Amino acid sequence: MNSYSNGPHDLGGDCHAWLLPEGHWGESNTGLIRGDGESLLVDTHLDLAHTAQMLQAFSALTEDCPIRTVVNTHSDGDHWFGNQLVATPGVDIVASAAAAELMTPAGAMELANLWHREDEVGDFVRAVASSFDPSGITATPPTRTFSGSLDLDVGGRQVRLTEVGPAHTPGDVIVHVPDARVLFTGDILFIGAAPLVWEGPVSRCAAACDLVLDLDVVTIVPGHGPVTDKAGVQRVRDYLTYVEAESVARFEDGLSLEEAIASIDLSRFADMAEHERIAANVLNVYEELDPARPRADRLAQFTHMAHLHKAAGTRPHGSVGGAA
Ligand SMILES: [Zn+2]
Repeated sequence: MNSYSNGPHDLGGDCHAWLLPEGHWGESNTGLIRGDGESLLVDTHLDLAHTAQMLQAFSALTEDCPIRTVVNTHSDGDHWFGNQLVATPGVDIVASAAAAELMTPAGAMELANLWHREDEVGDFVRAVASSFDPSGITATPPTRTFSGSLDLDVGGRQVRLTEVGPAHTPGDVIVHVPDARVLFTGDILFIGAAPLVWEGPVSRCAAACDLVLDLDVVTIVPGHGPVTDKAGVQRVRDYLTYVEAESVARFEDGLSLEEAIASIDLSRFADMAEHERIAANVLNVYEELDPARPRADRLAQFTHMAHLHKAAGTRPHGSVGGAA
């Protein structure tokens, strides 16, 4: 049972979101901002079928306002793998320089190959991402990059891009439409699921939440999950600061990573799905506190989460999804 509807959501102010319930692994959101005679698309999806469905549904809105700009909020495949379906001459694909460094054919191949692994990670990805098929992807990277902030003119409307990474990933960007008081956050926010800190440190993700809380926005579209508001942002921030503090305490008490992951009480966040992300989040804190510890790569991070997912069995909110 979906708690919110799949597909288009009118945000007001000629801004629109396309939501993939339940916002779990791979079930990313996209957005459309319409100006005078042109539109900006926020993100594409993990596979071609989901991206094509979104573009088809938005076609009535883009008929007289064609998409001239795509902004990829970050470098995870569920936010850019569908770029090839909108990459026509005259369309700018914009991302931060830090994100663009990772949006390569090799990076795309690495993620797509997770589905084919004959190990615990492969079992995990296939289990949580059964509704996605990242085959046929031609990595289509940004044509324009920036660092810091960038103001775009979308048919007479200001759209402000602000780099908040490194946080969830090295190059996260949020997309603000001031005249509509609308914000698209990418994976700085998961609503209904636990936050996930791939890059970090965790304090950077909390700082990104603080930045959002300081903006004059009312309607906030997370990277995954239903449309939210500042109360939703605060809740994500609460999780991050709680997990960071609990992890630091365990590190200082000499607990191993595994002991720390197993002993943090998440009952106050029991409504958040993807409980296994605690493994990556605690790992991130341990790496920050122990610079000598080799940094885990994405596969190692998935391995920690896959192991916890398997150990925990089917979660109450267990659902299909995708990657990252
Ligand atoms: Zn995502």
